[in-house]
Amino acid sequence: MRFYNTFSGKVEEFKPLKEGEVRMYTCGPTVYDYAHIGNFRSYVFEDIVRRTFKYLGYKVTQVMNITDVDDKTIKKSAELGISLKEYTEKYTQAFFEDIDTLRIERAEVYPKATEHINEMVELIKKLLDKGYAYVKEDAIYYDISKFKNYGALSKIDVKNLKKGVRIQVDEYDKDNVQDFALWKFKREGEPFWKTEIGEGRPGWHIECSAMSMKYLGETFDIHMGGVDNIFPHHENEIAQSEGATGKKFVNYWIHIHHLIVNGEKMSKSKGNFYTLRDLLRIGYKPEAIRFLLLSTHYRKTLNFTMDALKQATKNVERVYNFYYDLKTTVFKEKEENIEVKKITDESLSKFKEALEDDFNVSVAVSSLFEFIKQINKLQNSGGIGRADVNKILEGLNNFNKVFDILPKKLDTDIEEEYYNLIKEREKARKEKNYKRADEIRDLLKEKGIILEDTPSGVRWKKSY
Ligand SMILES: [Zn+2]
Repeated sequence: MRFYNTFSGKVEEFKPLKEGEVRMYTCGPTVYDYAHIGNFRSYVFEDIVRRTFKYLGYKVTQVMNITDVDDKTIKKSAELGISLKEYTEKYTQAFFEDIDTLRIERAEVYPKATEHINEMVELIKKLLDKGYAYVKEDAIYYDISKFKNYGALSKIDVKNLKKGVRIQVDEYDKDNVQDFALWKFKREGEPFWKTEIGEGRPGWHIECSAMSMKYLGETFDIHMGGVDNIFPHHENEIAQSEGATGKKFVNYWIHIHHLIVNGEKMSKSKGNFYTLRDLLRIGYKPEAIRFLLLSTHYRKTLNFTMDALKQATKNVERVYNFYYDLKTTVFKEKEENIEVKKITDESLSKFKEALEDDFNVSVAVSSLFEFIKQINKLQNSGGIGRADVNKILEGLNNFNKVFDILPKKLDTDIEEEYYNLIKEREKARKEKNYKRADEIRDLLKEKGIILEDTPSGVRWKKSY
C-alpha cells in the first residue's frame, strides 16, 4: 500500500504504527448548515480509504469530529434566537442522515467539540506551561514563532513573520500567517464555559488536536481533510499537538482536492451550489451521486456537471442490471467454466493493485467494467452455467465492498408456482414441445413476468 503524503510531498509506502491496524482522523462537519457536495466529495473519498484498508485486511479505527461550537454556529443560532445546542443538533442529525444516504460507513467515534472542553483546556494548559501560548485580554494565543517547524506541512514562508501579530477568527488564508486563538474569552451574548483558564470557548483548531489525541493517541497513522484544511487548520493542529507532546503528531497526511461545478467554484450567489438534498429532490439516485463523487482521483479537481451525473447514473445502472440478470437467469446445468474464475481473479487483482497505488479509483472502476464486459461476453455465448454463478456474484461483491453501489434490496422473488412453470417450460423446450412452452410464456406474461431466452438460460423480468 502506498499513497501521497502531503507532508513529504511524495508517494510513500504505508507503514502503520501497529501491524495490521490503521488509526485515522478525518476532519468532520461544522454543523451550521446542510453539508454540500464539495464536503461529500471528501467524506466519500475518506469512506473509500476506510473500505480499502478493510478490504486489504486492516483493522480500522476512524475518528471524525463534529464541530458544534465555532464562529458560524454561534452567529447562526443567535440570529434565530435559539440555543447553540438546539441549532447544532438539527444539522448534526441531517449530517448523519446524509452520510447514510450516500452509504458512507460510520466512523468508530464521532466526538463533539462541546463534550471535550476539558481535554482542550488541559492541552492549552500544557502549551501555556511550555511557553507556546500566551494570554491577551481577548484570548489565549499560540505563539507560532516558538514552534520551529511551523509551515512544514503547508510550505508557507514564515521568514518575514511579524512576531506577536494575532488573528482571532478561525478561518484565514496564507496572507495572514499569524498567532492564532486557542481559547476565546467570554464575549457578550456568546455561549461560554467556566474553566481553569478562564470563561470562554475554544478555537476551532484546538478541538481537532485534543479529540484526535484522546481517541487515537499522541501519534497516529493518518490524518485526512480537504486541501482547504492544510493551512491554517492542519498546520495549527501540528503546532498544538507537537508543541504539547514533543512527539510526532501524524505520520501521513492525505488531502482531497476541490470540487467545482461546471468549471466554476461553487457558490450560493452563482446559483451552482448543491447540497445532497438538492440533487435527490431533482430525482438523482444516491448511488449515482456516490459513484460520481468517488470516480475522480482525490488529487484531481472534480468538475461536477449534470451530464457527468447522468453518465454516473448510466454506469450504476449497468452494474445494477448485470447483478439483476445474474439473479434472474435460470442458468443451464453444466460443468464449471474455468474462464469465469480466470476473469474474476484477474479483474479483482487489478482492482486491488489500483487501490494500493495511491487509491487509483479510475483503474479500480475500469476493472469492474472490464469484469462485467467479459462475463457478459461469456454469457452471450452460452458459456455460463449454474455452477459459475456464485463465483461471479462473489467477484461482484468484492468490488462492491469498496464501491457500495449495488441495490440493498433486489426484487427478485417470484412465487414458487411461477418458478416451477419456468422450469416446466425449459423441459418442454428440450422435448421440442413448443406449443406447451409458448402457452407457459403467455400465461406468465399475464401474471406480469416476461421471459427472455438467452444462450445461458432463460431470464425473467417483472413488468409493472
Ligand atoms: Zn479538523
